[in-house]
Amino acid sequence: MVFRRPGLALALILLVAAPLFAQNQSFAKPKPKIIVIGVNGMEWDVLRPLLLQGKLPNLAKVIKNGTYGKLRTVSAPNCPRVYSTMFTSTKPEEHGVTGFVVGGITANTNMLKEEPIWSYLSKNGVTVGMANVPATFPVMPVNGYMISGMLTRGKDCEDGVLCAPRLSEVQGGDPVYPASMKAELLKNVGDFYIDCERMPSAEQLRGHEPDAIDAWLKKVDLIRSQQMKLFDYLLTNHPTDFTWVVQSCEDRTGHWLYPIAPYNAGYNPKINAVRTDAFPNQYIGFDGVLASILKHVDENTYLFILSDHGIKPLREFEETDPHAHMDHEKTTPVIAKHDFADGDDVPGSFVAMGPGIKHDQRLMGFEASVYDITPTILHLYGIEQPKQMRGHVLTEIFQNSGEKVAQK
Ligand SMILES: [Zn+2]
Repeated sequence: MVFRRPGLALALILLVAAPLFAQNQSFAKPKPKIIVIGVNGMEWDVLRPLLLQGKLPNLAKVIKNGTYGKLRTVSAPNCPRVYSTMFTSTKPEEHGVTGFVVGGITANTNMLKEEPIWSYLSKNGVTVGMANVPATFPVMPVNGYMISGMLTRGKDCEDGVLCAPRLSEVQGGDPVYPASMKAELLKNVGDFYIDCERMPSAEQLRGHEPDAIDAWLKKVDLIRSQQMKLFDYLLTNHPTDFTWVVQSCEDRTGHWLYPIAPYNAGYNPKINAVRTDAFPNQYIGFDGVLASILKHVDENTYLFILSDHGIKPLREFEETDPHAHMDHEKTTPVIAKHDFADGDDVPGSFVAMGPGIKHDQRLMGFEASVYDITPTILHLYGIEQPKQMRGHVLTEIFQNSGEKVAQK
């Protein structure tokens, strides 16, 4: 990778020197502990009724004790495009990861032209742990560990199409930094799937929809339970100042099993009337993962739950839109998507809880955007916002925002 800004070489030198730096600082105040949980495509339209029914007790608790709202995203949002925007707080055209495929090649970290959050944190002596975050393959050196996520390449992966290689099946780059950690994970966590299962094709579904849907959902459950085990293992055995973990199955399920009846563009009762519980169940599953992560959250921990975009039923000129079925898969009959030209049609979600963050506060409109995540996190570690970053520190989520937070 070649970052546009100078200082990468310096960053890497400092990265190597980080343990020394940390030792010299050993009498300084401990660094804030921050955990970010990404839930791809998390959609308020589906969360709200589940919250009202009391089916998401852990998320409800975080919302009650925190600040929440929509998260403004970029145009035509998809995971690599938005995550790289969050990592760098720069525009897709600036950081270079504009979509699943860039210049005919599947998006990867070598394309990143702006310096990402893990580099800034590492060179400032903050320990970093990242697991299953989209668009982090091949992994990059950090002051901690990194395990890649969505768009990791492996056996049977075609360019630009999502697949789910096991850790041992990854090809074309390193999925784990440091490399020595791979054997440890295989031994203690197992040979887990690194991303959510790809969606079945139209051909695989035709004629045996109920069985194909059930089998796919079973695999999704397995992948979620493996991820929960991985996250718990990392938070227990490799605690870091900053941790970012991500789940992807919610988005994938929403694309083709979004429960919309009786009719919507794309509605096919043979598929969409079979398991109307499938998509809501993903969030109930997520709430269980959240419960396991909350065991690692104390009153001094900042917790952010984010989605890169939401997901909405097909509604805009889909019959003639070549992108309608192209979010992740070639022929899956989709009923919902997020790749709308206007990103404001499909905002992500934002929930934050921690020391000094306002309780039970809803952000109205688009106060928070994907550009603001990195500046806000850097700020919590006392790191000044680099000039190229386009977001702002989310002072509005803090009590005492005036003096304490607005330093830039
Ligand atoms: Zn998607």
